Amino acid sequence: MNIGAHLSTKDGFSKLPENAHALGLRTYQFFSKNQMQWKSRPLDKNEAEAHAKAAKKLGIENEAIHASYLLNLGSPEDGKWKMSYDAFVEEIRRADQLGVPLLIFHPGAHMGSGEENALKRISKAVNSATEETKGARVKLVVENTAGQGSMVGHSLDHLGYLAKNSNDSERIGFCIDTCHAYQAGYDISNDLDAFLSEFDSKVGLGLLRAFHLNDSKYPFNKHLDRHENLGKGTLSHDFYVNLFNEKRLAKVPAFLETPEGEEGYPKDLEFLRSLGIKI
Ligand SMILES: [Zn+2]
Ligand SMILES: [Zn+2]
Repeated sequence: MNIGAHLSTKDGFSKLPENAHALGLRTYQFFSKNQMQWKSRPLDKNEAEAHAKAAKKLGIENEAIHASYLLNLGSPEDGKWKMSYDAFVEEIRRADQLGVPLLIFHPGAHMGSGEENALKRISKAVNSATEETKGARVKLVVENTAGQGSMVGHSLDHLGYLAKNSNDSERIGFCIDTCHAYQAGYDISNDLDAFLSEFDSKVGLGLLRAFHLNDSKYPFNKHLDRHENLGKGTLSHDFYVNLFNEKRLAKVPAFLETPEGEEGYPKDLEFLRSLGIKI
């Protein structure tokens, strides 16, 4: 797998490729704006171009932007939906300017309106945004959730619905967060193969564009989204070996989002190496 991690942008976008390399990572994910605010400053064109150039120079592929946590494309309220939709389109344009091929986003929450209703609204947002940003090569990558609160996207049936209702298979994709899948009731710790087979039949492995590689702080199927450093949580060590040995996933990027960020990634990588995994 193409190992990466979520990186801070404190040194500017153009330094991300170097910073990733220094940590022993082959790719990275980042926020293109403050993830807790609606507003964003326009991108500096030179900085955006410098980022794309630096990434190309270091041969980095599959970089990802993680969209704002505020978006709720499943919102039953038209005003909130529109605000989320506009911010979503803005995130796509920013990713495109930065030369980033993947925009990973949380599907949304139904807020009492029911899962099916939320899925319809998310699907509408994805298709309209694809149309509105025609020509951009950014893939809109839906992340699975742990099923906290009224969040949808915890079930492979939800991801399958979004895949089937997408008007452009080139622009849609899915990201599996390993902690979320385990918390949502998929026992990847004991049987990764069963999960991948179900993913393939309901969504299609060809649309699996990324992993978020996190251990789980809590035991199986508690719907609690709390990440842990690799090897320190409730996922088995065999799980990691199986994941990295899976030939069908050889090209898929896996981004660490473990609790200590840059401070902790070297430990995560060391843990993988201690299992004999080549990264
Ligand atoms: Zn996420
Ligand atoms: Zn999470």
